[in-house]
Amino acid sequence: MRKVYLVGAGPGDPDLITVKGLKAIQEADIILYDRLVNKELLKNARPDAKIVYCGKTPEHHTLSQEMINKLIVKYANQGKVVTRLKGGDPFIFGRGAEEAEVLSENNIPFEIVPGITAGSAVPSYAGIPLTHRDYSSSVAFITGVKKQGEDVDEYWEYLAKGADTICIYMGVKQLPNICEKLIQFGKDPDTPIAAIHCGTTENQYTITGTLLTITEKSSLITNPAIIVVGEVVRLRDKIQWFEWVVNKKNSTKQVSLV
Ligand code: SAH
Repeated sequence: MRKVYLVGAGPGDPDLITVKGLKAIQEADIILYDRLVNKELLKNARPDAKIVYCGKTPEHHTLSQEMINKLIVKYANQGKVVTRLKGGDPFIFGRGAEEAEVLSENNIPFEIVPGITAGSAVPSYAGIPLTHRDYSSSVAFITGVKKQGEDVDEYWEYLAKGADTICIYMGVKQLPNICEKLIQFGKDPDTPIAAIHCGTTENQYTITGTLLTITEKSSLITNPAIIVVGEVVRLRDKIQWFEWVVNKKNSTKQVSLV
């Protein structure tokens, strides 16, 4: 049966996929998956399923988006069930909509299975709520990588004066520039900021500072990372839990080795 599932695999922890997403993996004849998808999830595929890596890194694209689109269409037109597995949510900085447009243009039946996006899950695992009755009643999800010509002053002014919490995807390289622009357009330089690397996995770590000080620590922040700007970051001191769980697990491992 010709069908494509565009599935959000969640942010890293393989248990954070939806039941519907898991079913789409189990049903697939062919799975095309991205770099930030946890490979553990592929163990749920049928033994005879064909598995294709489409990963991209910020520097190197293994397959161009056009190639990926063509592959999906090709496999679907062979009458296969294709599961296109993407990190987080397919419709949040995931180019899922572009793939859905191509499917629609080719009259291929498809379903979209939302996933838990990194912008929400990763701060949660770092003990940072994006909203809080006392500190934040609005959130902006933004990308640090924009198309040329979009990085205009009005944009930064709007952000600096807009949402209480700013949650940044793909912002590692641009971090110094982002902090500078937010301060320039009126955000308090003492606003707390956190960068969380590999959130929801056992490699998760978090670097905190303020808009003014975080740049000194930028060499410690590597991809993939979610960056959160706003007063809500302060709550981490009180409600962080996951890194503590991971450390405890690791220290237990060490103890048992002795
Ligand atoms: N569609 C995805 C986002 C893809 S863009 C989603 O909804 O989550 C890729 C960016 O997402 C990375 O550069 C990083 O900023 C963020 N990201 C994805 N997984 C992450 C993780 N486990 N920890 C930290 N950041 C992550």
